[in-house]
Amino acid sequence: MTRLFGTNGVRGVVNETMTIDLATDLSRAIGTFFGGGKVAIGCDTRTSGDMLKSASVSGLLSVGCCAVDLSTVPSPTLQLEVKNGDYSGGIIITASHNPPEFNGMKCVDSEGMEMDKAGEEAIEAIYFSKHFHEVGWEAYRNHEKKVDAVDNYISSILKNVDAKSVKRAGLKVVLDCANGAACFSSPRLLERLGCEMVLLNEVPDGTFPGHNSEPIPENLTELMEVVTGSDAVLGIAHDGDADRSIFVDEKGNYVPGDKSMALVAKRIVEERSGGLVVTPVSSSSCVEEAVTGSGGEIRYTAVGSPIVARVMKATDAVFGGEENGGLIFPEHQYCRDGGMAAAKVVELLALSGEQLSSLLQEVPVYHNVKNKVHCPNEIKSGVLERLSRELEGKEVDTTDGLKVLYTDGWVLFRASGTEPLFRVFAESKSQGRAKELADEGVRIIADLIESRKKGS
Ligand code: MG
Repeated sequence: MTRLFGTNGVRGVVNETMTIDLATDLSRAIGTFFGGGKVAIGCDTRTSGDMLKSASVSGLLSVGCCAVDLSTVPSPTLQLEVKNGDYSGGIIITASHNPPEFNGMKCVDSEGMEMDKAGEEAIEAIYFSKHFHEVGWEAYRNHEKKVDAVDNYISSILKNVDAKSVKRAGLKVVLDCANGAACFSSPRLLERLGCEMVLLNEVPDGTFPGHNSEPIPENLTELMEVVTGSDAVLGIAHDGDADRSIFVDEKGNYVPGDKSMALVAKRIVEERSGGLVVTPVSSSSCVEEAVTGSGGEIRYTAVGSPIVARVMKATDAVFGGEENGGLIFPEHQYCRDGGMAAAKVVELLALSGEQLSSLLQEVPVYHNVKNKVHCPNEIKSGVLERLSRELEGKEVDTTDGLKVLYTDGWVLFRASGTEPLFRVFAESKSQGRAKELADEGVRIIADLIESRKKGS
């Protein structure tokens, strides 16, 4: 069956592949899947947000749902509202970190978690069959507006950090809202935590005049410069829908997401004298080493935040996340949460009294190399089978793709779920060895793809 949902919902260029027809029919499918009830709906700051949200509201109302419009909110704000309220689920109109011409839809279950694969497949089946639960005139309901979701979200975060100690520390931070949904939440949150703030790109604007909304180094040059030129102890950046946080240390250095995740994981495990941390199999070993070195355990999952969140819930994990800055704090909610991550790192600085650059010295250094190799979708599974045979006798983790474990590093081969390519990631404590493992991995997979194309 054709798939609509990728790793994080449905995405496309607005009025090309992400149209109001798609938004309406997908929302009818989602409402039919939920079987009615209240459905929370919200969007990020993209220029197409209102247009697609209106289409989605119409779709939900046509199948007898009551749409509750939260307006423009971070994804984790909507997820917390659904978790704490009497909802069948939620729909978030967002394309996260994609360029401004994109938008998308993400579906949330009644517990506020991103929908699992089985749920998405059931919704897709309804969408393609067009068997919507259309109701008669007597069952239509009006949609409602709800304005206090961000207030409730901020209050919940404040309950889950040592707000008093953070306030006492009076930290100065530079916050880059990326003109995204974080504009509505993070400045208010950090103000409540007593932080002195320098704000960048704090005006909601879906044209993203400051920079594109992916928090990668090339988009955060202004943030790094402002931190460097000030006495701020931290720089914080969010992606477009504020479910991720990336940090800049007091010297203005970009902190890769695997390092901030490892540091937060280490602290949480130390505080609790152990506990399980969950992360995808593609994450850096610096997280595992930081966790196990502090008496905790690591559990690897397939790639995708909905999977990480569900495994965390099933195993009663103390923490989890992805190395793109998407961190999950179970005491708050089972989803990536940029505001909660920012509050936790600010708390960590306040409680330790140390600078972020020196705290990061506790995180083991690993080097990784990430490559892509083009591969037609139809031969991916055959190539993976052949690769599995070639790797016989080696230690291989099959959680997601094939991860070959060596004493001094690893190589992960994964077929992309959305694009015609294989991803080849390699990691080692030695930069030279990481490159050697990556080059070798690319050569092996490229040879297998070529021979498969020739039908041998
Ligand atoms: Mg995002």
